Amino acid sequence: MSVGEPLLQVRGLTKHFPVRGGIFLRTVGQVHAVDDVSFDLDVGETLGLVGESGCGKSTVGKALLRLYEPTSGTVLFEGRDVVAMNRAELRRLRRDIQIVLQDPFESLNARHTVGKILEEPFVIHRLGTPAERRRWAAELLERVGLPAVAANRFPHEFSGGQRQRIGIARAIALRPKLIVCDEAVSALDVSIQSQILNLLLDLQREMNLALIFIAHDLAVVKHVSDRIAVMYLGEVVETATADDIYAAPRHPYTQALISAIPVPDPTAQSDRVVLVGDVPSPIDPPRGCRFHTRCRYARDDCGHIKPALESVHDGASVACHYWESVSEAERLGGVGT
Ligand code: SF4
Repeated sequence: MSVGEPLLQVRGLTKHFPVRGGIFLRTVGQVHAVDDVSFDLDVGETLGLVGESGCGKSTVGKALLRLYEPTSGTVLFEGRDVVAMNRAELRRLRRDIQIVLQDPFESLNARHTVGKILEEPFVIHRLGTPAERRRWAAELLERVGLPAVAANRFPHEFSGGQRQRIGIARAIALRPKLIVCDEAVSALDVSIQSQILNLLLDLQREMNLALIFIAHDLAVVKHVSDRIAVMYLGEVVETATADDIYAAPRHPYTQALISAIPVPDPTAQSDRVVLVGDVPSPIDPPRGCRFHTRCRYARDDCGHIKPALESVHDGASVACHYWESVSEAERLGGVGT
């Protein structure tokens, strides 16, 4: 990795899943889960990847680690091509990139003690003696706010928040450079959410970690992200710094998501933009702008001509033909004003 180069460079990442049908289970279509997604991530930076359920954000996270094989595109980590890596190279890569899932039960073996779960990464990578691994596991537990004796218990004996701490402990065991947090706090109560977010931010500062924070809720990523990428139906429709995107969202979809964030003041007037209609099927996504079937600013050509994700200002980018007039209309109070 050369000086000044991003830690992670994603270009044109695409993942389609085949749809099979008929008695011979032939491929009869493709689910366009992710189409042509590109972004960079610097050392120690946090990118929030947001969008409604099913927009492809989790598929992006898993494709970065090759938990899903990308259909096309390139993923460069420290300049190395992840998509071209063989099994041995991928195993080494997983020391550097880890994932924390929404449900730690998916990644924590219910039949193993927590100690064994935390020692496993060291066993896989042939690090330390058994006594050292036990000591490292105890240190990891203490680092995430759990007592060392928790090593003797099983995952089901812990609450959801504690299990997520165990998931994070395992993720940091090999001192990675990047952690993908895939809806890591979505299933937790609000007070527990903030404890886990604070833990992740502390670890980030301590270890100079880069984070990709995947969430359907913009309120969750608002305070932890340096930059945000908004996805709709498999595509990135807007990127900007967190401050910029919350202060002045340019894409009509981002505007709708931000307007849905609850305001703490009950007397404040709600300007919520209600999205009409359902999310279209990713098997047959709309032509032109994929958002045109739900966009309150759509014009005739939006259904025919696909807007490119274009750089608009200070590293921000937006995929909308009419983002300037849309932004002006929003400033004046919405469509038709
Ligand atoms: Fe709406 Fe058209 Fe912009 Fe798409 S290109 S977001 S349909 S105004």
